[in-house]
Amino acid sequence: MHLKPYIFNSEELKIELDELVRENRIEPYLHTFYAAAVVEDGRLTGIVVENKSGRSALLAGFFIDATGDGDLCEDLGLIGPKTEDPQPPTTCAKIIGLSTRASDERPDAVEVSDEWEELLRRHGAEFGLKPDWGWRTIVPNMPGVIMHAENHLFDLDTSKGDQLTRAEMEGRRSVRAMMDVVRKYGKDAGKLALVQLASYIGARETNHIAASYTLTVQDLLGGRAFPDAIAYGSYPVDIHHAGGSGITYRYLDGTEVVIPGRGTRKQVGRWRASTGGPAYYAVPLRCLVPAAGAYGNLLAAGRMLDADRSAFGAVRVMVNTNQTGEAAGVAAWLALQCGVPAADVDPQRLKEEMTRGGSLIPATPEGPGADGKSRT
Ligand SMILES: Cc1cc2nc3c(=O)[nH]c(=O)nc-3n(C[C@H](O)[C@H](O)[C@H](O)COP(=O)(O)OP(=O)(O)OC[C@H]3O[C@@H](n4cnc5c(N)ncnc54)[C@H](O)[C@@H]3O)c2cc1C
Repeated sequence: MHLKPYIFNSEELKIELDELVRENRIEPYLHTFYAAAVVEDGRLTGIVVENKSGRSALLAGFFIDATGDGDLCEDLGLIGPKTEDPQPPTTCAKIIGLSTRASDERPDAVEVSDEWEELLRRHGAEFGLKPDWGWRTIVPNMPGVIMHAENHLFDLDTSKGDQLTRAEMEGRRSVRAMMDVVRKYGKDAGKLALVQLASYIGARETNHIAASYTLTVQDLLGGRAFPDAIAYGSYPVDIHHAGGSGITYRYLDGTEVVIPGRGTRKQVGRWRASTGGPAYYAVPLRCLVPAAGAYGNLLAAGRMLDADRSAFGAVRVMVNTNQTGEAAGVAAWLALQCGVPAADVDPQRLKEEMTRGGSLIPATPEGPGADGKSRT
């Protein structure tokens, strides 16, 4: 069974998240950039940040790198080798005025009419658009507005300042180029308008921490059990092709779906026979812990976790990465309470504390494969 997605309004979500920060008495520093690490006698004691107040140091007993790109870990020499063919970034945009039709997938939603993809496929090159593939969705409480994730900025590493700049500018240009295609050839020419561009390009994959363990696709699709499992998911392996258009999905039930490009038919097959595979997979804490006991007061969270290319294709989404953030926070607190390095946090205690905080930790203590064996 492939579940339908949950869709949110990102603009209203910003205000909801502010509320959560207030309710939990967190002291945030907005518009503040991490700039350098402070290491004294081999111990991480602070970070240098820059914001409107100038440059300052934040000193703490424990640190969680959640920069996506692993900026702090990179400065500490804790980044692993680059993934071959990392998933490319996308500039998202909200556009109004395109004709829609009833959704094939959701009774409560609409989809942009087929003309959109057909026009881009036929006339994109005239506006400097490479062959590509994209997706789009309605936005709750924004009637007529469609959120588009249509482009991929190939061969640009957004963890590097110069390439990030090029990706941002080319991403924005390509959004307007798509609209120009409709303005020249489409029936919605006089109607469409750009409502919003993402404030920051969406990076799917840049750097990964060199952690105590690299999650593999065999672990993931085989439902491997981990005693220190801290996140559970069922989202499929979802790989946006790095070298050109298209996307590949691999589901836990053995289904494989490939969409080679815009306006092309889905190719539905199997990557393995229907074996009644696991219903979900687990991510262990050790994928967030720096390797070889380096910096015991540091954890990674989010998309910079350690996973191979295919396993990362599944764990990279919000429902999974937000669990790693929760786990890193609770593990940091436990490490400080118990006076131990992150690697020595008691996994059972961690799971109990996470459960108390509302995390859904399965009753089977070890996770999906209670027998401890991979089912691939
Ligand atoms: C186009 C696109 C569409 C996606 N669609 C979906 C979807 O439909 N559903 C889903 O579940 N997931 C989706 N994902 C995946 C989802 O976005 C990721 O799971 C999530 O963003 C990862 O969160 P993160 O916090 O680890 O990294 P990021 O979202 O990259 O957040 C890192 C944060 O750190 C900040 N930062 C970076 N460097 C520094 C620094 N030096 N100092 C201070 N701050 C810094 C950044 O500004 C950013 O706010 C999508 C991703 C992309 C790119």
